[in-house]
Amino acid sequence: MARVAIVTGGTRGIGEAISLALRDAGYTVAANYGGDDAKAAEFTKRTGIAAYKWNVADFAACQAGVAKVEADLGPVDVLVNNAGITRDGVLMKMTYEQWKEVIDVNLGGCFNMAKAVFPGMRDRKFGRIVSIGSINGQGGQYGQVNYAAAKSGIHGFTKALAQEGARAGITVNAIAPGYIDTDMVAAVPADVLEKIVAKIPVGRLGKASEIARGVMFLVGDDAGFVTGSTMSINGGQHMY
Ligand code: NDP
Repeated sequence: MARVAIVTGGTRGIGEAISLALRDAGYTVAANYGGDDAKAAEFTKRTGIAAYKWNVADFAACQAGVAKVEADLGPVDVLVNNAGITRDGVLMKMTYEQWKEVIDVNLGGCFNMAKAVFPGMRDRKFGRIVSIGSINGQGGQYGQVNYAAAKSGIHGFTKALAQEGARAGITVNAIAPGYIDTDMVAAVPADVLEKIVAKIPVGRLGKASEIARGVMFLVGDDAGFVTGSTMSINGGQHMY
């Protein structure tokens, strides 16, 4: 039986590349999305991958969404927490709403989704959870106290949950991408982007498919000894 994978935010950008890589490797994929119905419909038509709409920041919606996926496709073996947003601004100007929305989607979404899939994974003694953090959660970023805190939180969440899942065959890992050529980065002003690229040792933005390659390694049945780790995929921009 093919393994079943949920990719949150799986219809666009990095998430789309992850959904496609999983599909191509024989997984049955459910691509979650947050609101862009037209994009999701176009994605399903083009790829044959089922798209499911729910807000990862909403605990009850995650429970219902996972139940629907499991009824349609079978028990979930792989969760990729990829959905993420930015609401940038320096602390002096950032509103409480900007802070809360980014924490709730980017970090709260990981908790909500893990709560929905973890019990079944534990019962079946197999699971793979990969969450997409960020280089800006590792090193911070001007104008992103909300995003950097949420992404940094993902790295702590990963290490703690890895310890809870280890004896049950569940691995929990994170990937910290550098700057990847997606809609999120297209929103960065050109002059700022130029300065960012100048700081990337390999001299270019990353590709979404390069993040998907890392996910595919971590979700493999033979990656059972890799847990609690953060894989940096950033062109050498941040090392430690
Ligand atoms: P995009 O903005 O291109 O896509 C975001 C995806 O997340 C969309 O599918 C979107 O759905 C979905 N989404 C947003 N909010 C919600 C929500 N509340 N519930 C469910 N789904 C939601 O993002 P990227 O592909 O650029 O980024 C993907 C991940 O990688 C994010 O976590 C991001 O923080 C992280 N990352 C990105 C980097 C980059 O350079 N691009 C660098 C480092 C990390 P919809 O289409 O319906 O809006």
